This record gives sequence, C-alpha cells and structure tokens, in this order.
Amino acid sequence: MSKSLQAIRGMNDILPEQTPVWRYFEGTVSRLLDNYGYKQIRMPIVEFTELFKRSIGEVTDIVEKEMYTFDDRNGDSLTLRPEGTAACVRAVLEHGITGGGQVQKLWYIGPMFRHERPQKGRYRQFHQIGLEVFNLDGPDIDAELIIMTWRLWGELGIRDAVKLELNSLGTSESRGRYREALVEYLSAHHDKLDEDSQRRLKTNPLRVLDTKNADTQAVLVDAPKMADYLDDESRAHFEGLKARLDAVGIPYVFNPKLVRGLDYYSKTVFEWVTDKLGAQGTVCAGGRYDGLVEQMGGKPTPGVGFAMGIERLVLMLETLEQIPQELARQVDVYLCAFGEEAELAGLALAERVRDQLPNLRLQVNAGAGSFKSQFKKADKSGALYALILGDDEMAQQVVGFKPLRGQGEQQSIAWDALAAHLATCVVQG
Ligand code: ATP
Ligand code: MG
Repeated sequence: MSKSLQAIRGMNDILPEQTPVWRYFEGTVSRLLDNYGYKQIRMPIVEFTELFKRSIGEVTDIVEKEMYTFDDRNGDSLTLRPEGTAACVRAVLEHGITGGGQVQKLWYIGPMFRHERPQKGRYRQFHQIGLEVFNLDGPDIDAELIIMTWRLWGELGIRDAVKLELNSLGTSESRGRYREALVEYLSAHHDKLDEDSQRRLKTNPLRVLDTKNADTQAVLVDAPKMADYLDDESRAHFEGLKARLDAVGIPYVFNPKLVRGLDYYSKTVFEWVTDKLGAQGTVCAGGRYDGLVEQMGGKPTPGVGFAMGIERLVLMLETLEQIPQELARQVDVYLCAFGEEAELAGLALAERVRDQLPNLRLQVNAGAGSFKSQFKKADKSGALYALILGDDEMAQQVVGFKPLRGQGEQQSIAWDALAAHLATCVVQG
C-alpha cells in the first residue's frame, strides 16, 4: 500500500476485535465516576498553542519537542492537545463555572497527541480518561481521587499488579526554597551531571530528579531532599492524605524523586505504576495544581486531578488475562430465514422480539443464502441459539429454536411465545 494510504506512525486503528475491551474499560470507569458524583466535560481536540505553553510550561518535554503544532488557515498557531488539564481549565474559566468558589468535579475522555518515539505502551495518538476537581483544597479530595482509582483497579482485577507512589512538592513557597537549595548543590557538582541535566539545571531544575542517567543519579544521592523543605501547611496536607489512605487500607510508597513532567504541580503528586508493561510502567498519574488557574488568568482556585492511559490499561487487562469471558460473545441469537416470504416474516418477528427484549442481542441473517451457509454464519457469530424460519415453520407459524452450543434438541416455538421463551434462556446484560 502506498505510504500516503497508511495510518500515521504511532496512531493506531482500534479494530473491531479490540473495541469490546475498550468499551468494557470505558464503561467501567464512567460508571464508577458517575457513582462518585463526577460529571463529564467535553473539550475540543485543538486549542491555541499558547494555552499549552502557558499551562504546561515552556521548558517541558511536551512543549519543547512533543506537540503537534500547525498554523490555521488564518495564521493562528494551533496545537492538537497533548493532555487534558489545560483545556479543562480554559473551559471552566471561559464559562465561569468555578467562580465564587463553586466546586467542580469533572472528567473527560479522548485522544491526546504527542510526538514521541512509538513503542509498546507509547503512541503518538493515545487516549486518556482524566479528571479535575476545582475549589477543594484539602487532602480529603486528593485521597478520594486515589480511592476511586484503587476501586477501579479492584473492579478490573488488576489491583495486585499496580503500586501507588506518592510525593509532595509542597506549596510554591516551600518548592521555591527547595529549588534554590537544589540548584546550589547541583551547581557545585555541575561537571558530573549529564548534558540534559545540565540544561535542566538552568531551566527546570526539579526535573533533574527524575533523570535516568546513572552518574547524575549518583550525584543526587546526597542532594537536598524536598521532604526537608516542606512548610507546615504542605506537611499537614501530606500527612492528611496518608492518614486517609491508611484508613481505607491503600498501600503506598513514598518516592521523593517523583516530580512529574509538567510544571504546574504543587503539594500532592502520585503515580500508579506496574512492572507488567515493560518500560512504559505508569498507568495513571496526577496531582495537585493550586497555582495553575491563577497562572492562566483566573482567580486563585485550588485544583487536583489525574489522567490514566487507556492503551496501557487495556494492555494490562490483556496481559493479566482479566478480560471478562462474556465479552467474547457479541450475539445471543441468530435468525436464519429461507425464502422471500420467510425473510419478511423473520424481519417482522425480530422487531417484535426486540420490542419486548430491548437488551437481547439478536442478529438477523442478511444476504440470504442456503441452509448450510446461513447456519455456518449463525455458528460463527458466536450466538447461543439459531432461530429458523423455513417453509414448514411458515406453514405452522412457528420458529425453529436450535441450541448451537450443545444444550439440547431443536424445538418449535410459536411466534407469539418466542420472546417469553428467549427471556428464559438468554441471560441479558
Ligand atoms: P510517561 O512518563 O510514561 O511519558 P507522562 O508523565 O508523560 O507519562 P502524563 O502526561 O501524566 O504522562 O499522562 C498520564 C498518563 O497517560 C500516563 O501515565 C500514561 O498512562 C498515559 N500516557 C502518556 N503518554 C502516553 C503515550 N505517549 N502513549 C500512551 N499513553 C501515554
Ligand atoms: Mg511523557
């Protein structure tokens, strides 16, 4: 196939055999979020480039090298969203729905775009479910976010395979004092730092902490620790969060090197990580961003949120074989009709059954075909039962009811009794 007719590298089709797992995952998350009182918001996929520069920070991997940015026909610089928080903050400000301290508990789902090196669990178009809460500044809401994800892992059957890492970046004051101390220390060891870290030291020194370079890591062993610079407010917040996680019984590990890639975090940061996916081990990440709304032109508004990567979580479900059995079967009943008259009667009968059993997954054969070929299709569909309408059935106003998975003999059911009969033998979702 010519190159122009292929999908862009790192941007994947999600094929029909994969979508049931996606829908199962998305359905599970959205039901859970509904139950905790979160409301969905939908933002555009494209925003002004400036929005991401201002919120994510100019000196971040995303803004420096990962954004899909282009000029609109009228010359505006636009960017395919690399994440959801910026647009969500823009939306709440634009519509004034966080004004006067109004609490908003919001979630969104959709594609994000980053020009990264594609590999397992890392793509250029990927999908997130994200959540943001505005105007609640206590550790109770930070805890709620983590508790919800903990419940989600439980429902999905992957709880044992993920680990919670926690850190506090403190208030902006304590982070400022820490940054100074860190810069002073690292500057004294400048020559031992890798090139990237030398550059970050000038632009975004906290990011040096999550370097993968062994020499720089060695230098960091004796570096000042954020934990020693937390002010009373930050410390109380962090303790409050941990007390709540303890109360619910959620295990966590303190990771002082967890700083997250985006500029806007303060106080709580967390990641759910797994060792089941190779290098791309973070399945959900987030934290508090009390200064972001103000930085974007709003009134001071506390905020906290997280985002999870759907591809990585779907991969987890597959890897850990936690895909519910019932997803394998998409059809309950397959109706075969032979001859024009039977086909018409079959269509009408199918609609009557659907009226009475709206959740029944009933597939009507299309494209006619011989007895053999229709039967083959019925079997291949995965249906539990075939319904058969031929000349004999038409004459008697019955339908042949044939178990396809070895549960008994074929029987004849009167048309009027069909829905009631199906209700007794097909468990409806
Ligand atoms: P990573 O460290 O893996 O690059 P990140 O810190 O850049 O992740 P966030 O911006 O916090 O990621 O996004 C939240 C979640 O979205 C990640 O934990 C991950 O599950 C998912 N994610 C991020 N980037 C990608 C990507 N390129 N492909 C697939 N999933 C991704
Ligand atoms: Mg990244």
